[in-house]
Amino acid sequence: MRFEDEPVPGYPLPILPGHTSPGRLERVLRAGEFAITSELAPPDSADPEDVYRRARIFDGYVDAINATDGSGANCHMSSLAVCALLTRVGYAPVMQISCRDKNRIAIQGDILGGAAMGVCNILCLTGDGVQAGDHPQALPVFDLDSMSLLQTARTLRDEHRFLSGRKISYAPRVLLGAAENPFAQPVQFRAQRLAKKVAAGAQFIQTQYCYDVPLLKEFMRHVEDLGLLDKVFILVGVGPFKSAKAAEWISAHVPGVHIPPAVIARLKGASDQAVEGRRLCTDLVQEIRAIRGVHGVHLMAYRQEESVAEIIDRSGVLAGRVPWHPGRGEQPNNDRKAS
Ligand SMILES: Cc1cc2nc3c(=O)[nH]c(=O)nc-3n(C[C@H](O)[C@H](O)[C@H](O)COP(=O)(O)OP(=O)(O)OC[C@H]3O[C@@H](n4cnc5c(N)ncnc54)[C@H](O)[C@@H]3O)c2cc1C
Repeated sequence: MRFEDEPVPGYPLPILPGHTSPGRLERVLRAGEFAITSELAPPDSADPEDVYRRARIFDGYVDAINATDGSGANCHMSSLAVCALLTRVGYAPVMQISCRDKNRIAIQGDILGGAAMGVCNILCLTGDGVQAGDHPQALPVFDLDSMSLLQTARTLRDEHRFLSGRKISYAPRVLLGAAENPFAQPVQFRAQRLAKKVAAGAQFIQTQYCYDVPLLKEFMRHVEDLGLLDKVFILVGVGPFKSAKAAEWISAHVPGVHIPPAVIARLKGASDQAVEGRRLCTDLVQEIRAIRGVHGVHLMAYRQEESVAEIIDRSGVLAGRVPWHPGRGEQPNNDRKAS
């Protein structure tokens, strides 16, 4: 029996030929659909309902929900726990793993544990440094980084063994991803770094927030020149601003987020800046959709999660497709009106 023919315990779907996971996100991407992912802000709470409430907001609009891992080096409910809750009711999470807080022993255990619970997608991150967050006195681990984490996860999945060489009796069936920032100069270097992540095992990329489409196009040209367009699924990060002031704050304080002055001027000139922020995001999604080699968007609407439905609806990028969500059933239903 070939590896991909083996049934996946506890998971409702088989692995299709050429796929590495049984997950719905991989199915959407390989079918050539424009994929939508979003980010669930993990609660500062031990109540599972806080996770379910946040997940339900995305029902029918996203193909997978990212569970962040101590984003900004701040403490919240763990990524593994959010994924455990989400898979329990059938959501398709992307389990984010940052190398800041755990060594290779803990991380390899989490990859197996996540896959055993039905996690089909893993985003491999180096992670923000401890000084960025609310526990700057914490000890940073960084035993692995995003590259070696990708290689580690691939070893578990494809070679059925731990880094130590010890055999794994049932390998994790996962789609592997990484982050990239196309907006940090020099752009050519970012494309080369993406190539290294693809060589290390990245099958999909979720990028930093995009507010500069010409710069994204330049990055994608470099990605194409490196022959990577058919080797990796690229989902471009987007997100709405509540106000020009919020955009200015992010520009000044969040490393790696590049916001051109014209974006801030557009928000400043609007009578309702929050509405304009959502319009701007919708416009970005439409422009990004048209770029060759882009396979989807990753909508990070921190504290504005309810705006995801409006932005996706108005942009028209789902073209009537209704992403699966718990309660929809397994019957394919591609008509939003009929769902
Ligand atoms: C979609 C998305 C989700 C994220 N989620 C989380 C999260 O859940 N938790 C969290 O802690 N952080 C998160 N981050 C933040 C992210 O970890 C940091 O922005 C990080 O600095 C860059 O991403 P990375 O982790 O893939 O690191 P890497 O790409 O591995 O890089 C780490 C840093 O080192 C630099 N670097 C590495 N190698 C080289 C080299 N050879 N030459 C020069 N510079 C080098 C990179 O430029 C970067 O600044 C997320 C970022 C994105 C875009």
